[in-house]
Amino acid sequence: MTYAIPAPAIPTLPIKGSELRFPVHRIYCVGRNYADHAREMGHDPTKEPPFFFQKNPDNLTTDGEFPFPPLSNDVQYEIELVVALKSGGSDIRPEDALGHVFGYAIGLDMTRRDLQGAAKKLGRPWEVGKAFEKSAPCSAIVRAEEIGHPVSGAIWLNVNGTRKQTGDLSQFIWDIPHQIAILSTLFLLAPGDLIMTGTPAGVGPVGKGDRLLGHVEGLGKLDVLVV
Ligand code: MN
Repeated sequence: MTYAIPAPAIPTLPIKGSELRFPVHRIYCVGRNYADHAREMGHDPTKEPPFFFQKNPDNLTTDGEFPFPPLSNDVQYEIELVVALKSGGSDIRPEDALGHVFGYAIGLDMTRRDLQGAAKKLGRPWEVGKAFEKSAPCSAIVRAEEIGHPVSGAIWLNVNGTRKQTGDLSQFIWDIPHQIAILSTLFLLAPGDLIMTGTPAGVGPVGKGDRLLGHVEGLGKLDVLVV
């Protein structure tokens, strides 16, 4: 194959304990998947089915730095569990869903909240708020064969050493099997897809020089400096 212009690199994530890299196909994100966060954003978590948006695979960054993006005065952190798929399909049943999971990682769904808010108000898409450069800092993937499939466990985020977000994976409104199952009714899921599973309460703004330290039980830590 000879391309007319230079071919873009395939975005990849490291895999804990392996020299192999995980090639990323798409990044799906689940909105308002913890009741406390849905409430803090002004929504009733009991009435709403899950909804999804996407980031671009090349929005991933694994170098420990998050460059403060342009055209926003309110850039916010959202600490999330990330699910990495090794296989996919359509109309996956919840009871079959975990068989498609390669492993899990810690991610930050960095958000230009002011631009997202303006888009919401106008009924416009969220890309400008969500899918910008380096908006998805991510840890190495830990294989499911190593840690199993988490159904509970602490998830938290410190900013400059102060705890800002605290939650537990048991607080998911839609658990991982149902996230995969419902997503697969809307999209053809594929090997290399990532799912960012939503964030617990406590989201807030960052500034240059802030150090974000995120944790999900069993997955270690994600350490990111805002530059
Ligand atoms: Mn999010």
